[in-house]
Amino acid sequence: MELFDVTIIGGGPVGLFAATMARLHGIKTLLIESLNNLGGQLYTLYPEKPIYDVAGFYGVTGKDLALSLIEQAEHFSPTIVTGESVVRVSQTDGAIYEVVTDVQTYRTRALLLTVGIGAFVPRKLPAEGAASWENHGVYYLMPPLDHFKDRKVLVVGGGDTALDWTLAIAPWASQVTLMHRRDHFRGQEESLRLIRESPNVETKTPFELIRVVGDRRLDTVVVKKVGSDSEESWSIDDVVSGLGFLPSLGPVKRWGLTMDGNTITVDPASMATNLPGVYAAGDVAQYPGKVKLIATGFGEIGIAIAQIRTYLDPSKHGLPHSTNLKSVAKV
Ligand SMILES: Cc1cc2nc3c(=O)[nH]c(=O)nc-3n(C[C@H](O)[C@H](O)[C@H](O)COP(=O)(O)OP(=O)(O)OC[C@H]3O[C@@H](n4cnc5c(N)ncnc54)[C@H](O)[C@@H]3O)c2cc1C
Repeated sequence: MELFDVTIIGGGPVGLFAATMARLHGIKTLLIESLNNLGGQLYTLYPEKPIYDVAGFYGVTGKDLALSLIEQAEHFSPTIVTGESVVRVSQTDGAIYEVVTDVQTYRTRALLLTVGIGAFVPRKLPAEGAASWENHGVYYLMPPLDHFKDRKVLVVGGGDTALDWTLAIAPWASQVTLMHRRDHFRGQEESLRLIRESPNVETKTPFELIRVVGDRRLDTVVVKKVGSDSEESWSIDDVVSGLGFLPSLGPVKRWGLTMDGNTITVDPASMATNLPGVYAAGDVAQYPGKVKLIATGFGEIGIAIAQIRTYLDPSKHGLPHSTNLKSVAKV
């Protein structure tokens, strides 16, 4: 069975950049992604949302950033497997890890876990009728934005996900109502400022969604001001949940790693976990002061790949400050 130097588990933005960096530094690399598409949260959760805080890009959409990362990685020819979930990792004799997916088994000397928030499990809207309108009136994953053209949209939630989706939908919709069950929104102040300046967006607090109603298509939501008994009906075409996603790491929790809730505890100086030769980066990696951003994950990859390179060959230290393509040719 083929032996890889490093196996990266999770093909989100951080795992994809890890594949590029590992190959660039001559490491024989396997990347395994459980979904059929690469790109993680960028591609699956917010493909059309613009991103402003990744170096070198202004307002790149999630999908375009994912496609750029895929193209960059493919230049360096890592082995990429999609549609396989890693269910178990275990160390065999001679410091080799077996990586067992729901399809087959791989062998690797080191592991880099970039599993993010795991499977994408949306927090469901606690409203009567919401389940029966899922994907044709009630949305947990963002459909193409032109779907909202000239429609009246209700976005539910008070954090960054709800605020981001409100701003992404507003240029298309005739009207967006952002509703939150508390008095104050938790999301970024700058997003709130932009929302307040948007002529077709209104905010409603503290309101909660009671029912979603329609005949052949969704046309009404029934809401209630928190603390009052009287219900109101609003004419709405689409409901978008901005309640976020439940972390669902599933089998990762049984691999013997030191966990802190749904994150893996790492040493930020090395991105090493408690298991020898096993590293973690991106949203899943936790240490004091951690900020869950794409830019942070990219930085962590520089540290992790340097350490993995030394782990694989103790005569090598750090990473060269300038990259070239000679090292790739050696593998
Ligand atoms: C609505 C929204 C807007 C955001 N906006 C921004 C923004 O503007 N700027 C910013 O910097 N960040 C933003 N973020 C956060 C950003 O998307 C994350 O920080 C980033 O996606 C983390 O990347 P990752 O590769 O660590 O994890 P993920 O993107 O979660 O990718 C992890 C991948 O691992 C796979 N996986 C999980 N378990 C397994 C397994 N057992 N086997 C195989 N594969 C597995 C998953 O399927 C997934 O594809 C936003 C997030 C959301 C939800």
